[in-house]
Amino acid sequence: MSVRTRVAPSPTGDPHVGTAYIALFNRVFARQMGGKFILRIEDTDQARSTPESEAMILDSLRWLGLDWDEGPDVGGEFGPYRQSERSDLYQEYARRLVDAGHAFICYRTPAELEALRNARKEAGKHTALKPSDLLLPEDEVARRKAAGDPYVIRMQVPEDGRCEVEDMLRGAIELDWGQVDAQILMKSDGLPTYHLANVVDDHLMGITHVIRGEEWINSAPKHKLLYQYFGWEMPALCHMPLLRNPDKSKLSKRKNPTSINYYRRMGFLPEAVVNYLGRMGWSMPDESEKFSLEQMVEHFDLQRVSLGGPVFDVEKLRWLNGLWIRENHDPQQLAERFRQWAFNEEYLMAVLPLIQTRLEVLSDVAHLADFFVAGDLPLSVEQFDFPRLEPLQVRKILQFSLWRFEEMRHWQRDTVADALGVIAGHLELKLKDFMMPLFVAVAGRPAAPSIMDAMVILGSDMTRARLRQALSVVGGPSKKETKAWDKEYRSLAF
Ligand code: GLU
Repeated sequence: MSVRTRVAPSPTGDPHVGTAYIALFNRVFARQMGGKFILRIEDTDQARSTPESEAMILDSLRWLGLDWDEGPDVGGEFGPYRQSERSDLYQEYARRLVDAGHAFICYRTPAELEALRNARKEAGKHTALKPSDLLLPEDEVARRKAAGDPYVIRMQVPEDGRCEVEDMLRGAIELDWGQVDAQILMKSDGLPTYHLANVVDDHLMGITHVIRGEEWINSAPKHKLLYQYFGWEMPALCHMPLLRNPDKSKLSKRKNPTSINYYRRMGFLPEAVVNYLGRMGWSMPDESEKFSLEQMVEHFDLQRVSLGGPVFDVEKLRWLNGLWIRENHDPQQLAERFRQWAFNEEYLMAVLPLIQTRLEVLSDVAHLADFFVAGDLPLSVEQFDFPRLEPLQVRKILQFSLWRFEEMRHWQRDTVADALGVIAGHLELKLKDFMMPLFVAVAGRPAAPSIMDAMVILGSDMTRARLRQALSVVGGPSKKETKAWDKEYRSLAF
């Protein structure tokens, strides 16, 4: 049987380096085995999925050179490759499970579920709800059905005992059924949850090896059971170690830029990023640090993946990127890289309209538009002294804006302007004063061309990185302030 692997991102935010990492290992494994690598979009969470996010994920993976054999944009014989286009299939398979008694319809309300969980907690039991907890008297079910109450479909799960799952890297893993709840398979909106859609699609798409992040290990027992219920063979499972911040915590955007867009705007080379991701938990047989995607495919051996949490360290990535720039480019080739990066018509056409009215000679571009090509800016705390702003206000402006930008799903001029307007209103500041610290953070000076347009051009990731940098200069909330600021921020109505 020929190998088929997949990466299955949910399009709910920035294109994450973790997605690229998992895509890389799936692609390398498939290529090495002469198999196929598939891209599937898991967009069943309709409230959080956006087409912008999907487009950015596809674009970023392509930029990295991690192209796929089948996917929503290139098609393939097992499509559609976007879960939102496969709803009927999940309905049918959920129905099959219900008919066979492997799943059941559940009319429990959120309030009842909470009470049930609390009761279990008080009894000293695990809070995973079991089918027996959820049972309702037959007449009550009939009553709710007749009233047209919303319901979900849940899977049957064992009350207790041990479940054994085989992992390609870890061998047999034992998990406790007692901790596994009667997982919802179909939500009340008629859409599947991740678990049902993922299993049905992996089967129908002929996936032979599921290589994914370690955070999914706890889902494995449910998936194993679903394969059994359907009578399907389960693909081999391989859970890759999670990427970590240098302080060993799980890689998070609060501590490190996690979006591929940031690394791209910053001027990292795709081959260096791929090389670095390949070093996350894996090493070449000769331990060489610098290698290409092709070399990785040639020498790949899954058994060389080590489970200690790999640290994604931007400083190391910079060093590696430098090697690629110096060792793999003559000046002519480097010129081409600059052109691809920012010195091209598309980027100039975005930036120049913002500065044209201030240009007297073309060389003015160097100081008017420097921040459009810069990475980190050289900021000093004195730059954040403003006659009409208290230091506390400056810090809040930067922190609240950053928090809001981290949550925003649409990065456009009007959404940025609206968000900043809400924060300025809350802090009772005139927009002109409110914007001052943002000018300095993003452009490195208190006056610049339209800063909101600049933020849109720089992108959410670079903008956030600059705000984070500014906060490190002026000081973000202290431990004591964090709770109060967070509460204050949460009270804002965006
Ligand atoms: N949609 C899941 C994710 O966002 C896929 C997990 C899996 O590979 O099974 O990571």
